[in-house]
Amino acid sequence: MFDFDNELSALKKKGLLRHLLWRSSAQGPLVTINGRRYVNFGSNDYLGLAAHPLVAGAARDAALRFGFGAGASRLLAGGTALHERLERSVARLKGTEAALVFNSGYAANTGIIPAIAGEGDALFSDELNHASIVDGCRLSRARRHIYRHRDVSDLEGLLGKEKRARRRIVLTDSVFSMDGDIAPLPGLCEVCTRHGAMLYIDDAHATGVLGGGRGSLAHFGIRAEPWMVQMGTFSKALGSFGAFVAGSREMIDWLVNTARTFVFSTALPAPVIAASLKAMAVMRRDASRLKRLQENRSSLAAALQARGWNIRSSETPILPVLTRTVEEATSLSQLLFSRGVYAPAIRPPTVTAPRIRLTVTAAHTAAQIERLLRILDAY
Ligand SMILES: *Cc1c(COP(=O)(O)O)cnc(C)c1O
Repeated sequence: MFDFDNELSALKKKGLLRHLLWRSSAQGPLVTINGRRYVNFGSNDYLGLAAHPLVAGAARDAALRFGFGAGASRLLAGGTALHERLERSVARLKGTEAALVFNSGYAANTGIIPAIAGEGDALFSDELNHASIVDGCRLSRARRHIYRHRDVSDLEGLLGKEKRARRRIVLTDSVFSMDGDIAPLPGLCEVCTRHGAMLYIDDAHATGVLGGGRGSLAHFGIRAEPWMVQMGTFSKALGSFGAFVAGSREMIDWLVNTARTFVFSTALPAPVIAASLKAMAVMRRDASRLKRLQENRSSLAAALQARGWNIRSSETPILPVLTRTVEEATSLSQLLFSRGVYAPAIRPPTVTAPRIRLTVTAAHTAAQIERLLRILDAY
């Protein structure tokens, strides 16, 4: 028998026990948790679209037209015309021939990676990649190599040792979800070209945020190539749910046939797809959201640094505030919570260095950011 009580106590003793929170308001810069209002620095709703009336309205209209449940997988006619439209929009945004919607970022990474890599192949993964990439690599049965965080020369050394592999694939988050730093894509592209490797980019935190919203390749001015796999999500800056992969027509056709999380899972409901479509349209038409996001990000980052907080190499709205110990991260998060600010503590095993993870969005006001800073000042 599994002794849940005992295992949970062990977690608790290490200060690593996690708890669920119940929110009774919409997602946004102000949320109601357990009946109290909090300024929210814990969501990835970067453009403030999660509760946008046009996005919610598009979901409502689609529910009235298509109903809610999809009823079957895409291959068994669970998909709608909206799915196809969304895929064309994504391909246009990412500069590729084609795209495919997945049910979540987690499902995309655990489905795509095993579909393009197997026995005899070699995978090269940044040590700070998202858990869903790690799990996708594990499921693939390919040989796995972990390179030092953002270290192109470490990667190159490992690639050199795998010259006989059938296929080599380098995998990276473009924006790292706990540190907010950016992968060195120009260097990675150069090394991949030289070694004939594929490049798998997880743009979950870059879509809608970098490159005028187009993502990390646009941020660096790099053109999409057939040896690149661009994965991303609708669940963060786009305020919706689900994920996508963009690439060559042939790659997409291959994934439709072989990605198990695509083939064997019910399609996303039409209202979810309609919300993603509308969010992309709002993003395209209203550049002021991205501008406000960038302004809020700059002002909070500068203020944290001026106060001596270590935010590492963050260049994005994800701002890690490092603490010396796990206890300190927990107590700082609790202090903020007691003063009406939600900012989660992130602890091992999610990260090695404990921290508060702040995410600032386009929807935060200057007064809300000021309130956070005043509490940090008093710590
Ligand atoms: C959030 C995230 C995912 C998972 O996406 P979901 O749509 O939430 O399942 C995958 N990769 C990265 C880098 C992420 O930050």
